Amino acid sequence: MTASHIAIVGAGHAGGRVAQHLRALGHAGRVTLIGAEAHVPYERPALSKDLLLGTSAQESLALAPAEFWSADALSAASIERIHACADSLDIDARRVQLNNGRSVDFDLMVVATGGEARRPAFMTEAMPGVHVLRTLDDCLALKESLAGCRRLAIIGAGVIGMEVASTAISLGVPVTVLEAGNGIMNRCLPPLVAGWLAQQHIARGVELHTGVSVERIVAAERQQTNVLRLRVDATRNGAPFGIDADCVLIAIGVDCNPRFLMHTGLSDARGITVDAFCRSPQLPWLYAAGDVACTLDSDAGLHLRQETWRNAENQARAVAEIIMGRTQPYRETPWMWTDQLGHAIQVTGVPDATDTTVVRGDLNAASATVISLRDGCVSAGVTINQSRDRRHLEALVKSRRRIDPQQLGDALISLKELV
Ligand code: NAP
Repeated sequence: MTASHIAIVGAGHAGGRVAQHLRALGHAGRVTLIGAEAHVPYERPALSKDLLLGTSAQESLALAPAEFWSADALSAASIERIHACADSLDIDARRVQLNNGRSVDFDLMVVATGGEARRPAFMTEAMPGVHVLRTLDDCLALKESLAGCRRLAIIGAGVIGMEVASTAISLGVPVTVLEAGNGIMNRCLPPLVAGWLAQQHIARGVELHTGVSVERIVAAERQQTNVLRLRVDATRNGAPFGIDADCVLIAIGVDCNPRFLMHTGLSDARGITVDAFCRSPQLPWLYAAGDVACTLDSDAGLHLRQETWRNAENQARAVAEIIMGRTQPYRETPWMWTDQLGHAIQVTGVPDATDTTVVRGDLNAASATVISLRDGCVSAGVTINQSRDRRHLEALVKSRRRIDPQQLGDALISLKELV
């Protein structure tokens, strides 16, 4: 495999890293990196935080310095970067057809297409002032809209929605969040922490409405000022209500079912199912990395798709290593961080609303570690401005040992002692 031609579809964080690692590991064959975005591969966490706020420069997001991506350097490294979208895959010929008329033949393929921002069914076409936030261009467009914005309406109180709410508040933009579920960040936080964080947002002036079903967004008449007004029509508990805004962000999750694989049976709404070596069980020459990969955790015996920076970073390296002969499976404890309203929050494992929770420290003082227990074992944990607990928390999650909840809750006993 060390001289094979590898086509990487998706030139984001995971795809770019696979190319870099292949070269660093001595892969001598050609690498073709295919991506729909014009920008060089970059990391996404700052899009909803520092870049939107204006405290980070665009260039700081790139995976490698600009020289690495220059045409000469890529050519010297036998990497071809193609700015195009993959349209279809011919499995028998091992050929990917691109939307620019080209096709690429390869030996191995790595799919790292990430996800596409989901849009509600009523959004059949783009509207001025209505945004999603997935790409650098999305971020730049939203940033422009926020300048002078008198109200931002955010649909979806997931992690993007709440990070943007925090950023907008820092920019002095009033925010209304409309969420279908009963709380914020339901997918990442245990209810206790989600409730605390929602209160922090409300205290900072964010208007939060849960149990909302958004029905449409309409452009109101242009005022004399020539500023576009938007109206979000919704129902809450069956009763109609609406929000006026200058700008709307739709943040209702991502779809990770790459279109070029449609009708191949290789992917579905859960993404691309791969084994513990990140390989498709149907096609041993097809690998997946990053958000799109629904990967078998052989210890736990279940497939997990991780939409996190850490997974993009580490699964990309694992795929390159596996191609180059690694015999250890890929296994990663889920971990993500979010910075909101000045609080540093880190989530290890996947909390579930049915877990028992133990609090170490003082949540009201915004200094705590909230630990989730399932069947007596630590299943997940959230640190709130307590980053030093994170490493031990991860060791506890990995250990799968039963731990006494009273000891866990005793802040006088260090987590390190319990590992
Ligand atoms: P998300 O975390 O999946 O949250 C989407 C939220 O929207 C959920 O609360 C969902 O409610 C709600 N929702 C769904 N349909 C809705 C509707 N029609 N009206 C109102 N609310 C609706 O997705 P996201 O916030 O858009 O983030 C997208 C991706 O970016 C994720 O992969 C995320 O992990 C990633 N990301 C990560 C970070 C980080 O790690 N710090 C930062 C930014 C982005 P239900 O739960 O009830 O369905």
